[in-house]
Amino acid sequence: MEGKYGQNGGHWLDWVQDGRNVGSLWWRDVRNLNVGDGANGGWLSSGFRMKIGEGKDGSFWWDEWCGEVCLANKFPRLYLLSTGKENKCHQMGQNVNGTWKWILEWRRTLFEWEEEDAKQLKRTIENVTITPGQPDKWEWIHSIEGHYSTKTAYLMLVKQRREPEEAKLFKRIWSKILPSKVAAFNWKVILDRIPKKINLLKRGIVKDTGDRKCVLCENEDEDSNHLFLNCSIARRLWQACANWWGITVTLHKDCWKTFQNFGAWTTSSRIAEGWDCTWNSFIWSVWMARNGKMFQNLKVN
Ligand SMILES: [Zn+2]
Repeated sequence: MEGKYGQNGGHWLDWVQDGRNVGSLWWRDVRNLNVGDGANGGWLSSGFRMKIGEGKDGSFWWDEWCGEVCLANKFPRLYLLSTGKENKCHQMGQNVNGTWKWILEWRRTLFEWEEEDAKQLKRTIENVTITPGQPDKWEWIHSIEGHYSTKTAYLMLVKQRREPEEAKLFKRIWSKILPSKVAAFNWKVILDRIPKKINLLKRGIVKDTGDRKCVLCENEDEDSNHLFLNCSIARRLWQACANWWGITVTLHKDCWKTFQNFGAWTTSSRIAEGWDCTWNSFIWSVWMARNGKMFQNLKVN
């Protein structure tokens, strides 16, 4: 990282946080993603904690290794008085008869009220010990194993931004038993982000014949809610499925609400998951039929 992006003066996340216009487009995108109200300036930075082992990588003052905020931010006055501002953790103490002992040194004698701060600092770090031979490592706090994954980051962001009920819905979307491309498609449908005919026309992907209408019924403008719920073809298909299942399917005016209530009648999470699969199968099949007709002129059966 240093080879590519230069020295950053201590904290690796400075590469993420600072405003310098360096790095590839990809890296600049990563930096722009790191926005939010996290204690350390963004959701990405504040999602990592340093797990101290031998203390050779972890910066005593600048890494978040005990608590959510780094010690320099939590105890700014003590940081200014420290004789080891740039020290790694293992340089801030020593092993005495096999037991790690933190040693904090100051540029001058502390005032009484600074002593209080120093005591609090000692209490904060006293339970962390330096273990020789065990490397320090960064852990992602939003997963049990401590490994970063797109999924855990996504779930964390959704939870942060949405009401609990909506967060629950998004959890259902990313079900374990569905192929991820189907789950991702459902997600786009619910947010009404599927590539609409009008966008494809604009980008020259399909030939512009002046027709903006739904590919299936050729009657009304196409959007997610029309295509999967209100289109006469979709309605007939829903009706056929409902007859086959022997139930009444309630369609709401938008896909969000319909999916939310789909399978809401059961308290069994297994059965609910099964219904989520039928929803996904339904919209996926309609989408395939629509694309078949649009791109290959296939007849909708
Ligand atoms: Zn239609």
